[in-house]
Amino acid sequence: MPGRPVLYNCVVPFATVRTMEQPSFCSNCGGRLATASPGMRPGCVACGRIAYLDPKLAAAAIVALEGKLVLVRRAIEPSIGKWSFPSGYVDRGEAVEGAVEREVREETGLHVKANWLVGLYSQAGNAVVLAVYDVTVVGGDLCAGPEALEVKTFDPRSLPELAFAHDGAIVADWERSHALRR
Ligand SMILES: [Zn+2]
Repeated sequence: MPGRPVLYNCVVPFATVRTMEQPSFCSNCGGRLATASPGMRPGCVACGRIAYLDPKLAAAAIVALEGKLVLVRRAIEPSIGKWSFPSGYVDRGEAVEGAVEREVREETGLHVKANWLVGLYSQAGNAVVLAVYDVTVVGGDLCAGPEALEVKTFDPRSLPELAFAHDGAIVADWERSHALRR
């Protein structure tokens, strides 16, 4: 999507790059931010406003197509070149389900409908919280969007090396969520 800042337009579910960066200046007055002691929130030396550094919500989809899983090969760091689920950041004011459906469309060309939340994934020291949804394909054609090097389907029993440590757990949680609904 042209005009959007790169940070909010990427494939990443669990980026540790950039998202834990501390801002240097106050969003209220432009004054310098300082932290009184390690682990404290930074505050503005000029106007005193505290800079609240909120988590960043990302959403991913487990897309099943004819019994196989749709994965995208990442065109950006971290883990460039590795395979992961279609995913991206949720825009402010956007429904999480809507973000999932948009990201899948942008990255894979598939039109999907979000079904249920498979799980919510977070780690200490990582600003990104990832919401993973089960989705149903309702249209479109599989083709890699500008943020993916490649998009392909894989047998869930023989997935390629996945980009993030928790990706294997996500597949297991997704399979369990299906078993519970049978
Ligand atoms: Zn200030």
